This record gives sequence, structure tokens and C-alpha cells, in this order.
Amino acid sequence: MDGHIEKILWTEEQISDRVSEVASQIFHDLKGLSSPVVMVGVATGAFMFLADIVRKTKLPVYVDFIRAESYGFGTESNGAPRISSDVKVDVKGKHVILVEDIVDTGNTLSCLISHLESKGACSVSVCTFLDKPSRRKVHFDLVGEGKFYWGFECPDYFVVGYGMDFAELYRNLPYVGVLKPELYK
Ligand code: 5GP
Ligand code: MG
Ligand code: MG
Repeated sequence: MDGHIEKILWTEEQISDRVSEVASQIFHDLKGLSSPVVMVGVATGAFMFLADIVRKTKLPVYVDFIRAESYGFGTESNGAPRISSDVKVDVKGKHVILVEDIVDTGNTLSCLISHLESKGACSVSVCTFLDKPSRRKVHFDLVGEGKFYWGFECPDYFVVGYGMDFAELYRNLPYVGVLKPELYK
């Protein structure tokens, strides 16, 4: 698998350091809350980041997943996503942190935020491992006192690893890299 990577953007060590910083920001912001926090990972890509962030954020949290389909097997989002698997925890009256692998066009996030708001979450924050602001097409508003946390700003490459796939492969790479273009073009 390593031979399929053209270049590494963030190593395992850089990721670990940055995730610790984000986790302490979240801890600092949420430690005083009286109501519980629900960390909702967006499956499948966020699974590794979610596992790291919940271990490093030393708060009592509910952990859950939600699944939205929009990508198929290409490298471009195809517009409005569909929620194909909903949260199990009742988010009504709770603070939700949506944990994403990467925010690209913003399509997925705006749909998920509205969905959680309609289920009665008292705030919806977003914690994304990567943010690609140069590709944003859809604006999204956080809910209540919700905040936006991000690990790294990602240049406009299609990246894989640390949970992120191409055609369901490469998710288990412990670093983030750019795939050799001949593998997907
Ligand atoms: P958006 O709806 O913001 O366009 O992106 C939705 C999802 O597409 C992201 O949460 C992520 O799972 C996937 N995605 C966007 N950019 C990339 C990328 O560079 N690499 C991979 N593997 N997935 C991406
Ligand atoms: Mg995602
Ligand atoms: Mg994907």
C-alpha cells in the first residue's frame, strides 16, 4: 500500500500531536457543561479520528455513528447526500459534536447538521480532522453555541489514510497521503 502513495502530507506522529491539541481545546470548551456530550462519527471515514479524539478528550461522552452516502466510488461528491444510517443515542437536549474525516464541499455536513438540529440537539459543533476550505460550495451554520474544530487545513488533493479511502481501500494507513494519480485517473 505504501507504494501507492505519491507523497505523505501528515505523518503518524504529526497527526497524534495535532489530535492531542484539538482534544484539549474541546476539553477546555466543554468541561463546564451540565448536560452530556454526544460525539457522532460520520462513518466510515471518521472512525480512526473518532477513536483518537474520544480517548484524548477526557470527558464523559456518548459515542455514536451516523452514515451519509454521497460519494460512491469516485473522488467527487455528487451533491445532496442521503442519511443511510441514523444515530442510536437520543440527541434531544444534548450537545452534539459531529466528527468528520474531511470537510470538502460542505454538502454532507450541512445535511447532517440540519438533521441533528431537527432531532432536538441543543448545540451542534463540528470537529473535522481535515478542512479543505478552497473547495467549499455549501455554507453551513452551527447550532446553538456550537463551535468548529479542525485538525489541519488540507490543500486541494484527494487524500487517503487515517480513515479516508479510495474505493474503500487505504483507510488503515496510519498517515495521510496523496495517491499516485495513475491509480484513480
Ligand atoms: P463533502 O460533502 O464536504 O463534499 O465531502 C463529503 C465526504 O467526502 C467527506 O466527509 C469525505 O468522507 C469525502 N472526501 C472529501 N474529500 C476527500 C478526499 O480528499 N479524500 C477522501 N478519501 N475522501 C474525501
Ligand atoms: Mg466523511
Ligand atoms: Mg469515502
